[in-house]
Amino acid sequence: MAVGGITGTIDGIDYRNVRVVAAMNKIPGTAWYMVTKMDRDEILSALTYQMKMILIILILVIITSGSFLAFIIRDQRVAFYREKYEAELNRLALVKHFDYILKFANDIILLIDRNLNIIEANDRALEFYQYTRSEFIGMKLEKIRAPEAVSQLQEDLKTVDENEYATFETVHKRKDNTTFPVEISSRLVIIEGSKYYQSIGRDITERKSIENILRESEEKFRKIFEESPFSIIMTGKDFGILRTNLSFCNLIGYDDEELKLFTFRNFTHPDYIANDEISLLKLIAGEIPVYHTEKRYICKDRSIIWGSTSVSIIRNKKDEVQFFLVTIEDITSRKNAMTELITAKEKAEESDKLKTAFLHNVSHEIRTPMNAIIGFSTLLNDPDLTEEDRTQYIDIIFQSGSQLLLIINDIVDIANVESGQVKVNLTQMNLNSTLKSLNEQFRINRKQNNVSMSLSTILPDEDSNIITDNTKLVQILSNLINNSIKFTRDGQIDFGYVLKDKLLEFFVKDTGIGIPSEYHSRIFDRFYQVDSAVSRQYSGTGLGLSICKGYVELLGGTIKVESESGKGTQFIFTIPFLRA
Ligand code: ADP
Repeated sequence: MAVGGITGTIDGIDYRNVRVVAAMNKIPGTAWYMVTKMDRDEILSALTYQMKMILIILILVIITSGSFLAFIIRDQRVAFYREKYEAELNRLALVKHFDYILKFANDIILLIDRNLNIIEANDRALEFYQYTRSEFIGMKLEKIRAPEAVSQLQEDLKTVDENEYATFETVHKRKDNTTFPVEISSRLVIIEGSKYYQSIGRDITERKSIENILRESEEKFRKIFEESPFSIIMTGKDFGILRTNLSFCNLIGYDDEELKLFTFRNFTHPDYIANDEISLLKLIAGEIPVYHTEKRYICKDRSIIWGSTSVSIIRNKKDEVQFFLVTIEDITSRKNAMTELITAKEKAEESDKLKTAFLHNVSHEIRTPMNAIIGFSTLLNDPDLTEEDRTQYIDIIFQSGSQLLLIINDIVDIANVESGQVKVNLTQMNLNSTLKSLNEQFRINRKQNNVSMSLSTILPDEDSNIITDNTKLVQILSNLINNSIKFTRDGQIDFGYVLKDKLLEFFVKDTGIGIPSEYHSRIFDRFYQVDSAVSRQYSGTGLGLSICKGYVELLGGTIKVESESGKGTQFIFTIPFLRA
Protein backbone atom coordinates (compact mmCIF):
# COMPACT_ATOMS: atom_id res chain seq x y z
CA MET A 1 0.00 0.00 0.00
CA ALA A 2 2.89 2.22 0.85
CA VAL A 3 4.21 1.32 -2.55
CA GLY A 4 0.93 2.52 -3.88
CA GLY A 5 1.49 5.82 -2.09
CA ILE A 6 -1.31 5.22 0.43
CA THR A 7 -0.87 6.66 3.84
CA GLY A 8 -2.89 5.94 7.00
CA THR A 9 -3.66 3.07 9.32
CA ILE A 10 -5.01 -0.17 8.17
CA ASP A 11 -6.03 -3.43 9.60
CA GLY A 12 -4.63 -6.36 7.61
CA ILE A 13 -2.89 -9.67 7.51
CA ASP A 14 0.88 -9.76 7.23
CA TYR A 15 3.14 -12.25 5.62
CA ARG A 16 2.92 -14.53 8.58
CA ASN A 17 -0.77 -14.57 8.10
CA VAL A 18 -1.19 -12.81 11.37
CA ARG A 19 -3.66 -10.02 11.82
CA VAL A 20 -1.76 -6.81 12.20
CA VAL A 21 -2.42 -3.11 12.36
CA ALA A 22 -0.10 -1.11 10.05
CA ALA A 23 0.49 2.63 9.84
CA MET A 24 1.99 4.18 6.65
CA ASN A 25 3.32 7.68 6.58
CA LYS A 26 5.46 9.44 3.95
CA ILE A 27 8.82 10.63 5.25
CA PRO A 28 8.81 14.26 4.30
CA GLY A 29 11.38 15.37 1.69
CA THR A 30 12.01 11.78 0.59
CA ALA A 31 10.34 9.27 -1.61
CA TRP A 32 10.27 6.91 1.27
CA TYR A 33 7.44 5.73 3.32
CA MET A 34 7.61 4.57 6.84
CA VAL A 35 5.60 1.47 7.53
CA THR A 36 5.01 0.40 11.09
CA LYS A 37 3.01 -2.61 12.01
CA MET A 38 2.05 -4.36 15.11
CA ASP A 39 0.28 -7.56 15.70
CA ARG A 40 -3.32 -6.91 16.42
CA ASP A 41 -3.21 -9.31 19.31
CA GLU A 42 -0.26 -7.46 20.70
CA ILE A 43 -2.14 -4.19 20.54
CA LEU A 44 -5.29 -5.68 21.92
CA SER A 45 -3.49 -7.69 24.59
CA ALA A 46 -3.18 -4.57 26.84
CA LEU A 47 -6.71 -3.60 25.93
CA THR A 48 -8.01 -7.09 26.64
CA TYR A 49 -6.33 -7.00 29.96
CA GLN A 50 -7.95 -3.70 30.80
CA MET A 51 -11.22 -4.92 29.46
CA LYS A 52 -10.96 -7.95 31.60
CA MET A 53 -10.19 -5.81 34.59
CA ILE A 54 -13.09 -3.56 33.82
CA LEU A 55 -15.30 -6.58 33.33
CA ILE A 56 -14.18 -8.05 36.62
CA ILE A 57 -14.75 -4.72 38.38
CA LEU A 58 -18.08 -4.41 36.62
CA ILE A 59 -19.11 -7.86 37.68
CA LEU A 60 -17.95 -7.17 41.22
CA VAL A 61 -19.90 -3.92 41.25
CA ILE A 62 -22.95 -5.66 39.88
CA ILE A 63 -22.61 -8.46 42.39
CA THR A 64 -22.08 -6.00 45.26
CA SER A 65 -24.94 -3.75 44.28
CA GLY A 66 -27.10 -6.77 43.56
CA SER A 67 -26.38 -8.14 46.99
CA PHE A 68 -26.92 -4.72 48.47
CA LEU A 69 -30.15 -4.35 46.57
CA ALA A 70 -31.18 -7.81 47.56
CA PHE A 71 -30.31 -6.94 51.13
CA ILE A 72 -32.33 -3.71 50.98
CA ILE A 73 -35.24 -5.45 49.34
CA ARG A 74 -35.06 -8.20 51.87
CA ASP A 75 -34.80 -5.63 54.67
CA GLN A 76 -37.71 -3.71 53.30
CA ARG A 77 -39.74 -6.82 53.03
CA VAL A 78 -38.83 -7.72 56.57
CA ALA A 79 -39.79 -4.20 57.71
CA PHE A 80 -42.97 -4.45 55.71
CA TYR A 81 -43.88 -7.74 57.25
CA ARG A 82 -42.82 -6.55 60.65
CA GLU A 83 -45.00 -3.45 60.29
CA LYS A 84 -47.82 -5.56 59.07
CA TYR A 85 -47.32 -7.88 61.97
CA GLU A 86 -47.18 -5.01 64.43
CA ALA A 87 -50.25 -3.40 62.90
CA GLU A 88 -52.04 -6.67 63.24
CA LEU A 89 -50.82 -6.94 66.82
CA ASN A 90 -52.01 -3.39 67.52
CA ARG A 91 -55.30 -4.14 65.91
CA LEU A 92 -55.68 -7.21 68.05
CA ALA A 93 -54.63 -5.23 71.14
CA LEU A 94 -57.10 -2.52 70.20
CA VAL A 95 -59.86 -5.04 69.71
CA LYS A 96 -58.97 -6.55 73.07
CA HIS A 97 -58.74 -3.12 74.54
CA PHE A 98 -62.19 -2.16 73.30
CA ASP A 99 -63.47 -5.54 74.33
CA TYR A 100 -62.23 -4.85 77.81
CA ILE A 101 -63.62 -1.33 77.76
CA LEU A 102 -66.94 -2.63 76.65
CA LYS A 103 -66.86 -5.48 79.13
CA PHE A 104 -65.54 -3.76 82.19
CA ALA A 105 -66.52 -0.13 81.60
CA ASN A 106 -68.57 1.28 84.41
CA ASP A 107 -70.62 3.17 81.88
CA ILE A 108 -73.40 1.95 79.67
CA ILE A 109 -72.22 1.83 76.04
CA LEU A 110 -74.81 1.45 73.31
CA LEU A 111 -74.79 1.54 69.56
CA ILE A 112 -78.12 2.58 68.10
CA ASP A 113 -79.16 2.54 64.47
CA ARG A 114 -81.11 5.19 62.65
CA ASN A 115 -84.39 3.43 63.44
CA LEU A 116 -83.50 3.80 67.09
CA ASN A 117 -82.92 0.10 67.66
CA ILE A 118 -80.17 -0.92 70.04
CA ILE A 119 -77.75 -2.90 67.89
CA GLU A 120 -74.87 -3.31 70.31
CA ALA A 121 -74.47 -2.95 74.06
CA ASN A 122 -71.78 -3.69 76.60
CA ASP A 123 -72.22 -6.11 79.51
CA ARG A 124 -72.61 -3.23 81.94
CA ALA A 125 -75.64 -2.02 79.95
CA LEU A 126 -77.24 -5.48 80.18
CA GLU A 127 -76.58 -5.50 83.93
CA PHE A 128 -78.03 -2.05 84.34
CA TYR A 129 -81.17 -2.62 82.37
CA GLN A 130 -81.55 -6.22 83.61
CA TYR A 131 -82.02 -7.73 80.12
CA THR A 132 -80.27 -10.69 78.48
CA ARG A 133 -78.25 -9.89 75.42
CA SER A 134 -80.82 -11.48 73.13
CA GLU A 135 -83.62 -9.48 74.76
CA PHE A 136 -81.67 -6.28 74.65
CA ILE A 137 -80.16 -6.26 71.18
CA GLY A 138 -82.77 -5.08 68.73
CA MET A 139 -84.84 -3.40 71.43
CA LYS A 140 -86.25 0.08 70.71
CA LEU A 141 -84.36 2.85 72.47
CA GLU A 142 -87.50 4.37 73.94
CA LYS A 143 -88.11 1.13 75.86
CA ILE A 144 -85.26 1.98 78.20
CA ARG A 145 -86.50 5.53 78.75
CA ALA A 146 -88.68 6.34 81.77
CA PRO A 147 -92.24 7.19 80.57
CA GLU A 148 -91.86 10.82 81.63
CA ALA A 149 -88.65 11.11 79.55
CA VAL A 150 -89.89 9.48 76.32
CA SER A 151 -91.34 12.67 74.89
CA GLN A 152 -87.94 14.35 75.21
CA LEU A 153 -86.18 11.60 73.16
CA GLN A 154 -86.73 13.13 69.71
CA GLU A 155 -85.62 16.51 70.98
CA ASP A 156 -82.40 15.02 72.43
CA LEU A 157 -81.60 13.15 69.19
CA LYS A 158 -82.25 16.29 67.18
CA THR A 159 -79.57 18.05 69.22
CA VAL A 160 -77.16 15.16 68.49
CA ASP A 161 -78.02 15.32 64.77
CA GLU A 162 -77.44 19.05 64.63
CA ASN A 163 -74.18 19.12 66.57
CA GLU A 164 -72.91 15.58 65.86
CA TYR A 165 -72.45 15.31 69.57
CA ALA A 166 -74.50 16.12 72.67
CA THR A 167 -74.53 15.52 76.37
CA PHE A 168 -77.82 15.55 78.22
CA GLU A 169 -79.46 14.22 81.34
CA THR A 170 -82.53 11.98 81.21
CA VAL A 171 -84.21 9.19 83.13
CA HIS A 172 -83.86 5.54 82.09
CA LYS A 173 -85.93 2.52 83.01
CA ARG A 174 -84.86 -1.01 83.92
CA LYS A 175 -86.70 -4.17 83.04
CA ASP A 176 -88.35 -4.15 86.49
CA ASN A 177 -89.64 -0.64 85.68
CA THR A 178 -87.45 1.05 88.27
CA THR A 179 -85.94 4.25 86.95
CA PHE A 180 -82.63 6.01 87.46
CA PRO A 181 -81.20 9.33 86.33
CA VAL A 182 -78.59 9.01 83.62
CA GLU A 183 -76.19 11.32 81.86
CA ILE A 184 -75.86 10.48 78.17
CA SER A 185 -73.01 11.47 75.87
CA SER A 186 -74.16 10.65 72.37
CA ARG A 187 -72.22 10.90 69.14
CA LEU A 188 -73.51 10.69 65.61
CA VAL A 189 -71.59 8.15 63.50
CA ILE A 190 -72.11 7.86 59.73
CA ILE A 191 -70.94 4.56 58.26
CA GLU A 192 -71.33 4.22 54.50
CA GLY A 193 -74.14 6.69 54.45
CA SER A 194 -76.01 5.11 57.35
CA LYS A 195 -76.58 6.98 60.57
CA TYR A 196 -75.73 5.45 63.97
CA TYR A 197 -75.68 6.85 67.48
CA GLN A 198 -72.96 5.79 69.81
CA SER A 199 -74.13 6.58 73.33
CA ILE A 200 -72.32 6.36 76.59
CA GLY A 201 -74.58 6.55 79.63
CA ARG A 202 -73.61 7.07 83.24
CA ASP A 203 -75.85 6.37 86.22
CA ILE A 204 -75.96 9.68 88.10
CA THR A 205 -78.21 8.58 90.97
CA GLU A 206 -75.48 9.26 93.50
CA ARG A 207 -74.52 12.57 91.95
CA LYS A 208 -78.15 13.62 91.86
CA SER A 209 -78.66 12.72 95.48
CA ILE A 210 -75.49 14.62 96.43
CA GLU A 211 -76.77 17.52 94.36
CA ASN A 212 -80.10 17.27 96.17
CA ILE A 213 -78.39 17.16 99.56
CA LEU A 214 -76.28 20.14 98.52
CA ARG A 215 -79.32 21.97 97.22
CA GLU A 216 -81.21 21.19 100.41
CA SER A 217 -78.33 22.30 102.58
CA GLU A 218 -77.92 25.41 100.45
CA GLU A 219 -81.64 26.01 100.78
CA LYS A 220 -81.37 25.52 104.55
CA PHE A 221 -78.46 27.93 104.70
CA ARG A 222 -80.37 30.40 102.52
CA LYS A 223 -83.37 30.07 104.83
CA ILE A 224 -81.23 30.56 107.93
CA PHE A 225 -79.60 33.54 106.23
CA GLU A 226 -82.82 35.03 104.91
CA GLU A 227 -85.10 34.36 107.86
CA SER A 228 -82.67 34.89 110.70
CA PRO A 229 -83.97 37.36 113.28
CA PHE A 230 -80.39 38.60 113.35
CA SER A 231 -79.30 40.90 110.60
CA ILE A 232 -76.63 39.25 108.45
CA ILE A 233 -74.35 40.81 105.84
CA MET A 234 -71.76 39.17 103.59
CA THR A 235 -69.03 41.45 102.32
CA GLY A 236 -66.12 40.88 99.98
CA LYS A 237 -62.42 41.39 100.67
CA ASP A 238 -62.83 45.06 99.74
CA PHE A 239 -65.72 45.29 102.25
CA GLY A 240 -68.21 45.79 99.39
CA ILE A 241 -71.61 44.37 100.34
CA LEU A 242 -72.29 41.07 98.52
CA ARG A 243 -75.48 39.96 100.20
CA THR A 244 -77.78 41.06 103.02
CA ASN A 245 -80.78 39.42 104.63
CA LEU A 246 -84.30 40.78 105.05
CA SER A 247 -83.78 41.46 108.73
CA PHE A 248 -80.90 43.83 107.95
CA CYS A 249 -82.83 45.53 105.13
CA ASN A 250 -85.74 46.10 107.52
CA LEU A 251 -83.37 47.37 110.18
CA ILE A 252 -81.48 49.85 108.02
CA GLY A 253 -84.25 50.80 105.58
CA TYR A 254 -82.26 50.15 102.37
CA ASP A 255 -83.11 47.25 100.05
CA ASP A 256 -80.62 44.55 99.03
CA GLU A 257 -79.90 46.14 95.63
CA GLU A 258 -79.15 49.55 97.16
CA LEU A 259 -76.90 47.93 99.74
CA LYS A 260 -74.89 46.10 97.07
CA LEU A 261 -73.47 49.49 96.01
CA PHE A 262 -72.25 50.16 99.57
CA THR A 263 -69.46 49.25 101.93
CA PHE A 264 -70.04 49.19 105.71
CA ARG A 265 -68.76 52.78 105.78
CA ASN A 266 -71.92 54.04 104.08
CA PHE A 267 -74.17 53.17 107.01
CA THR A 268 -71.74 53.18 109.92
CA HIS A 269 -71.75 56.25 112.15
CA PRO A 270 -68.51 58.20 111.43
CA ASP A 271 -67.42 57.82 115.08
CA TYR A 272 -66.86 54.08 114.55
CA ILE A 273 -65.32 53.80 111.05
CA ALA A 274 -61.64 54.19 112.04
CA ASN A 275 -61.93 51.64 114.83
CA ASP A 276 -63.78 49.23 112.54
CA GLU A 277 -61.05 49.49 109.90
CA ILE A 278 -58.27 48.77 112.39
CA SER A 279 -60.15 45.79 113.85
CA LEU A 280 -60.88 44.35 110.39
CA LEU A 281 -57.17 44.53 109.52
CA LYS A 282 -56.41 42.68 112.77
CA LEU A 283 -58.99 40.10 111.76
CA ILE A 284 -57.36 39.62 108.33
CA ALA A 285 -53.92 39.34 109.96
CA GLY A 286 -55.32 36.62 112.23
CA GLU A 287 -54.59 38.62 115.37
CA ILE A 288 -58.18 38.21 116.53
CA PRO A 289 -60.56 35.36 115.64
CA VAL A 290 -63.76 37.43 115.67
CA TYR A 291 -64.45 41.13 115.94
CA HIS A 292 -67.21 42.17 118.34
CA THR A 293 -68.40 45.71 118.76
CA GLU A 294 -71.44 47.74 119.73
CA LYS A 295 -71.85 50.61 117.35
CA ARG A 296 -74.30 53.04 115.85
CA TYR A 297 -75.71 52.67 112.33
CA ILE A 298 -77.27 55.38 110.19
CA CYS A 299 -80.55 54.24 108.60
CA LYS A 300 -81.85 55.40 105.22
CA ASP A 301 -84.22 57.83 107.00
CA ARG A 302 -81.13 59.21 108.84
CA SER A 303 -82.32 57.78 112.16
CA ILE A 304 -79.66 56.21 114.36
CA ILE A 305 -79.81 52.65 115.66
CA TRP A 306 -77.51 50.61 117.85
CA GLY A 307 -76.21 47.23 116.68
CA SER A 308 -74.28 44.60 118.59
CA THR A 309 -72.00 43.54 115.75
CA SER A 310 -69.83 40.44 115.23
CA VAL A 311 -67.57 40.09 112.21
CA SER A 312 -65.93 36.79 111.30
CA ILE A 313 -63.78 35.95 108.32
CA ILE A 314 -64.38 33.09 105.88
CA ARG A 315 -61.21 31.79 104.22
CA ASN A 316 -60.65 29.24 101.44
CA LYS A 317 -58.41 26.14 101.67
CA LYS A 318 -55.41 28.29 100.76
CA ASP A 319 -56.20 30.46 103.77
CA GLU A 320 -57.09 33.38 101.52
CA VAL A 321 -59.86 35.73 102.63
CA GLN A 322 -63.08 34.87 100.79
CA PHE A 323 -65.56 37.13 102.53
CA PHE A 324 -66.62 38.62 105.84
CA LEU A 325 -69.74 37.46 107.64
CA VAL A 326 -71.30 40.16 109.77
CA THR A 327 -74.16 39.57 112.21
CA ILE A 328 -75.93 42.49 113.80
CA GLU A 329 -78.36 42.40 116.69
CA ASP A 330 -80.56 45.45 117.10
CA ILE A 331 -79.88 46.68 120.62
CA THR A 332 -81.36 50.14 120.14
CA SER A 333 -84.06 49.66 122.77
CA ARG A 334 -81.56 48.16 125.22
CA LYS A 335 -79.20 51.06 124.62
CA ASN A 336 -82.01 53.59 124.92
CA ALA A 337 -83.19 51.95 128.13
CA MET A 338 -79.61 52.12 129.35
CA THR A 339 -79.37 55.79 128.38
CA GLU A 340 -82.69 56.44 130.12
CA LEU A 341 -81.42 54.61 133.17
CA ILE A 342 -78.25 56.66 133.16
CA THR A 343 -80.29 59.84 132.70
CA ALA A 344 -82.63 58.75 135.49
CA LYS A 345 -79.63 57.99 137.67
CA GLU A 346 -78.09 61.36 136.86
CA LYS A 347 -81.45 62.97 137.50
CA ALA A 348 -81.77 61.19 140.81
CA GLU A 349 -78.28 62.31 141.72
CA GLU A 350 -79.11 65.80 140.56
CA SER A 351 -82.37 65.67 142.48
CA ASP A 352 -80.45 64.56 145.52
CA LYS A 353 -78.09 67.49 145.09
CA LEU A 354 -81.07 69.77 144.56
CA LYS A 355 -82.72 68.44 147.70
CA THR A 356 -79.59 69.19 149.68
CA ALA A 357 -79.50 72.65 148.16
CA PHE A 358 -83.22 73.01 148.88
CA LEU A 359 -82.80 72.01 152.52
CA HIS A 360 -80.05 74.51 152.75
CA ASN A 361 -82.25 77.14 151.08
CA VAL A 362 -85.39 76.24 152.93
CA SER A 363 -83.65 76.25 156.24
CA HIS A 364 -82.33 79.69 155.31
CA GLU A 365 -85.74 80.84 154.02
CA ILE A 366 -87.49 79.48 157.10
CA ARG A 367 -84.88 80.62 159.54
CA THR A 368 -84.89 84.20 158.31
CA PRO A 369 -88.60 84.88 159.04
CA MET A 370 -88.49 82.58 162.09
CA ASN A 371 -85.59 84.51 163.55
CA ALA A 372 -87.47 87.72 162.83
CA ILE A 373 -90.61 86.35 164.52
CA ILE A 374 -88.73 85.06 167.56
CA GLY A 375 -86.51 88.14 167.79
CA PHE A 376 -89.25 90.71 167.46
CA SER A 377 -91.65 88.71 169.68
CA THR A 378 -88.97 88.87 172.41
CA LEU A 379 -88.59 92.61 171.86
CA LEU A 380 -92.34 93.05 172.27
CA ASN A 381 -91.93 92.04 175.90
CA ASP A 382 -89.90 95.18 176.57
CA PRO A 383 -92.11 97.39 178.82
CA ASP A 384 -90.28 100.52 177.64
CA LEU A 385 -91.20 99.93 174.02
CA THR A 386 -92.79 102.90 172.28
CA GLU A 387 -96.13 102.38 170.59
CA GLU A 388 -94.56 103.15 167.21
CA ASP A 389 -91.84 100.50 167.65
CA ARG A 390 -94.39 97.98 168.88
CA THR A 391 -96.54 98.54 165.77
CA GLN A 392 -93.44 98.15 163.55
CA TYR A 393 -92.36 94.96 165.35
CA ILE A 394 -95.84 93.49 165.07
CA ASP A 395 -95.82 94.36 161.38
CA ILE A 396 -92.46 92.60 160.90
CA ILE A 397 -93.71 89.56 162.82
CA PHE A 398 -96.85 89.48 160.64
CA GLN A 399 -94.90 89.76 157.38
CA SER A 400 -92.38 87.13 158.47
CA GLY A 401 -95.22 84.85 159.48
CA SER A 402 -96.87 85.37 156.06
CA GLN A 403 -93.55 84.62 154.29
CA LEU A 404 -93.16 81.49 156.36
CA LEU A 405 -96.66 80.43 155.45
CA LEU A 406 -95.91 80.99 151.77
CA ILE A 407 -92.81 78.78 151.94
CA ILE A 408 -94.65 76.05 153.80
CA ASN A 409 -97.49 76.27 151.28
CA ASP A 410 -95.03 75.88 148.42
CA ILE A 411 -93.50 72.78 149.96
CA VAL A 412 -96.91 71.27 150.63
CA ASP A 413 -98.09 72.15 147.10
CA ILE A 414 -95.14 70.55 145.32
CA ALA A 415 -95.36 67.49 147.56
CA ASN A 416 -99.04 67.18 146.62
CA VAL A 417 -98.39 67.70 142.91
CA GLU A 418 -95.66 65.07 142.87
CA SER A 419 -97.67 62.52 144.82
CA GLY A 420 -100.61 63.10 142.46
CA GLN A 421 -102.87 64.22 145.23
CA VAL A 422 -103.87 67.56 143.76
CA LYS A 423 -107.33 67.46 142.26
CA VAL A 424 -108.63 69.88 139.68
CA ASN A 425 -111.61 71.80 140.95
CA LEU A 426 -113.40 73.22 137.90
CA THR A 427 -115.61 76.22 138.59
CA GLN A 428 -117.05 79.06 136.63
CA MET A 429 -115.06 82.30 136.83
CA ASN A 430 -114.83 85.62 135.10
CA LEU A 431 -111.33 85.67 133.73
CA ASN A 432 -111.04 89.43 133.21
CA SER A 433 -112.15 90.36 136.70
CA THR A 434 -109.81 87.77 138.29
CA LEU A 435 -106.87 89.17 136.32
CA LYS A 436 -107.86 92.73 137.16
CA SER A 437 -107.94 92.01 140.90
CA LEU A 438 -104.54 90.26 140.60
CA ASN A 439 -103.19 93.33 138.89
CA GLU A 440 -104.60 95.51 141.62
CA GLN A 441 -103.16 93.28 144.37
CA PHE A 442 -99.66 93.38 142.89
CA ARG A 443 -99.86 97.09 142.27
CA ILE A 444 -100.62 97.71 145.96
CA ASN A 445 -98.05 95.20 147.28
CA ARG A 446 -95.33 96.14 144.86
CA LYS A 447 -92.38 97.73 146.54
CA GLN A 448 -90.45 98.96 143.51
CA ASN A 449 -91.88 102.14 142.14
CA ASN A 450 -89.74 102.09 139.05
CA VAL A 451 -91.42 98.96 137.64
CA SER A 452 -94.69 99.54 135.87
CA MET A 453 -97.21 96.78 135.34
CA SER A 454 -99.90 96.37 132.69
CA LEU A 455 -102.63 93.86 131.99
CA SER A 456 -104.05 92.99 128.58
CA THR A 457 -107.23 90.97 128.10
CA ILE A 458 -108.58 90.07 124.71
CA LEU A 459 -112.09 89.00 125.56
CA PRO A 460 -114.74 91.61 126.48
CA ASP A 461 -115.37 91.50 130.26
CA GLU A 462 -118.91 90.18 129.87
CA ASP A 463 -117.70 87.50 127.49
CA SER A 464 -114.80 86.27 129.62
CA ASN A 465 -116.65 83.71 131.73
CA ILE A 466 -114.74 80.46 131.56
CA ILE A 467 -114.59 77.14 133.34
CA THR A 468 -111.28 76.25 135.01
CA ASP A 469 -109.69 75.75 138.42
CA ASN A 470 -109.69 79.34 139.55
CA THR A 471 -107.35 78.87 142.54
CA LYS A 472 -104.70 77.08 140.52
CA LEU A 473 -104.83 79.59 137.67
CA VAL A 474 -104.41 82.45 140.14
CA GLN A 475 -101.51 80.62 141.83
CA ILE A 476 -99.74 80.03 138.51
CA LEU A 477 -100.08 83.69 137.52
CA SER A 478 -99.11 84.88 141.03
CA ASN A 479 -95.93 82.76 141.02
CA LEU A 480 -94.93 84.06 137.59
CA ILE A 481 -95.72 87.70 138.41
CA ASN A 482 -93.88 87.36 141.73
CA ASN A 483 -90.81 86.07 139.89
CA SER A 484 -91.02 88.94 137.39
CA ILE A 485 -91.21 91.45 140.18
CA LYS A 486 -88.36 89.68 141.98
CA PHE A 487 -86.04 89.66 138.99
CA THR A 488 -86.89 93.09 137.52
CA ARG A 489 -85.26 96.04 139.24
CA ASP A 490 -86.70 98.61 136.90
CA GLY A 491 -88.64 98.36 133.67
CA GLN A 492 -91.97 96.87 132.69
CA ILE A 493 -94.06 93.82 133.52
CA ASP A 494 -96.89 92.85 131.16
CA PHE A 495 -99.30 90.04 131.70
CA GLY A 496 -102.54 88.88 130.18
CA TYR A 497 -103.85 86.36 127.69
CA VAL A 498 -104.69 85.84 124.02
CA LEU A 499 -106.82 83.27 122.21
CA LYS A 500 -105.06 80.53 120.22
CA ASP A 501 -107.40 78.04 118.53
CA LYS A 502 -109.26 76.41 121.38
CA LEU A 503 -106.71 77.51 123.93
CA LEU A 504 -106.25 80.48 126.19
CA GLU A 505 -102.61 81.49 126.01
CA PHE A 506 -101.40 83.44 129.07
CA PHE A 507 -98.18 85.39 129.22
CA VAL A 508 -96.15 87.10 131.95
CA LYS A 509 -93.41 89.20 130.43
CA ASP A 510 -90.75 91.29 132.14
CA THR A 511 -87.70 93.34 131.24
CA GLY A 512 -85.65 91.92 134.12
CA ILE A 513 -82.35 90.06 134.39
CA GLY A 514 -83.41 87.28 132.00
CA ILE A 515 -82.39 83.63 132.06
CA PRO A 516 -79.41 82.37 130.02
CA SER A 517 -80.58 79.81 127.43
CA GLU A 518 -78.58 76.93 128.96
CA TYR A 519 -80.89 77.04 132.01
CA HIS A 520 -84.21 77.08 130.12
CA SER A 521 -84.69 73.33 130.18
CA ARG A 522 -83.99 73.06 133.89
CA ILE A 523 -85.73 75.94 135.59
CA PHE A 524 -88.99 73.93 135.80
CA ASP A 525 -87.20 71.20 137.80
CA ARG A 526 -88.10 71.34 141.43
CA PHE A 527 -85.62 73.16 143.67
CA TYR A 528 -83.70 74.38 140.65
CA GLN A 529 -82.41 77.92 140.76
CA VAL A 530 -80.26 79.58 138.18
CA ASP A 531 -76.78 79.43 139.55
CA SER A 532 -75.55 82.94 138.89
CA ALA A 533 -74.19 85.69 140.99
CA VAL A 534 -77.16 87.88 140.05
CA SER A 535 -79.91 85.37 140.88
CA ARG A 536 -78.25 84.37 144.13
CA GLN A 537 -79.01 87.80 145.46
CA TYR A 538 -82.73 86.91 145.39
CA SER A 539 -84.47 84.74 147.91
CA GLY A 540 -86.55 81.74 146.86
CA THR A 541 -86.89 77.99 147.18
CA GLY A 542 -86.74 76.96 143.50
CA LEU A 543 -90.24 75.52 143.79
CA GLY A 544 -92.42 78.20 142.20
CA LEU A 545 -91.91 77.18 138.56
CA SER A 546 -92.23 73.44 139.21
CA ILE A 547 -95.55 74.12 140.97
CA CYS A 548 -96.61 76.25 137.95
CA LYS A 549 -95.66 73.44 135.53
CA GLY A 550 -97.46 70.83 137.65
CA TYR A 551 -100.62 72.95 137.80
CA VAL A 552 -100.59 73.95 134.08
CA GLU A 553 -100.32 70.28 133.09
CA LEU A 554 -103.09 69.38 135.53
CA LEU A 555 -105.30 71.97 133.82
CA GLY A 556 -104.51 70.40 130.43
CA GLY A 557 -101.96 72.85 129.06
CA THR A 558 -98.25 73.42 128.57
CA ILE A 559 -95.76 76.01 129.80
CA LYS A 560 -92.58 77.39 128.22
CA VAL A 561 -90.05 80.13 128.73
CA GLU A 562 -88.58 82.62 126.28
CA SER A 563 -85.73 84.58 127.71
CA GLU A 564 -82.33 86.08 127.04
CA SER A 565 -79.80 87.00 129.65
CA GLY A 566 -80.11 90.72 130.52
CA LYS A 567 -83.05 91.29 128.17
CA GLY A 568 -86.01 90.02 130.17
CA THR A 569 -88.15 86.93 130.38
CA GLN A 570 -91.52 85.81 129.09
CA PHE A 571 -93.40 82.78 130.46
CA ILE A 572 -96.18 81.49 128.23
CA PHE A 573 -98.69 78.87 129.26
CA THR A 574 -101.92 77.52 127.82
CA ILE A 575 -105.11 76.11 129.26
CA PRO A 576 -108.18 74.85 127.38
CA PHE A 577 -110.67 77.59 126.54
CA LEU A 578 -113.94 76.35 128.01
CA ARG A 579 -116.67 78.98 127.87
CA ALA A 580 -118.96 79.07 130.84
P1 ADP B 1 -87.53 80.66 143.10
O1 ADP B 1 -88.29 80.42 144.30
O2 ADP B 1 -86.09 80.49 143.20
O3 ADP B 1 -87.95 81.86 142.34
P2 ADP B 1 -88.72 79.38 140.87
O4 ADP B 1 -89.00 77.96 140.59
O5 ADP B 1 -89.90 80.28 140.84
O6 ADP B 1 -87.94 79.44 142.20
O7 ADP B 1 -87.71 79.91 139.82
C1 ADP B 1 -86.58 79.14 139.55
C2 ADP B 1 -85.47 80.02 139.06
O8 ADP B 1 -85.80 80.52 137.79
C3 ADP B 1 -85.27 81.24 139.87
O9 ADP B 1 -84.44 80.97 140.97
C4 ADP B 1 -84.61 82.16 138.87
O10 ADP B 1 -83.24 81.90 138.82
C5 ADP B 1 -85.26 81.81 137.58
N1 ADP B 1 -86.38 82.71 137.23
C6 ADP B 1 -87.70 82.45 137.37
N2 ADP B 1 -88.45 83.48 136.91
C7 ADP B 1 -87.57 84.41 136.44
C8 ADP B 1 -87.70 85.70 135.83
N3 ADP B 1 -88.89 86.24 135.59
N4 ADP B 1 -86.58 86.37 135.51
C9 ADP B 1 -85.35 85.81 135.71
N5 ADP B 1 -85.17 84.62 136.31
C10 ADP B 1 -86.27 83.90 136.65
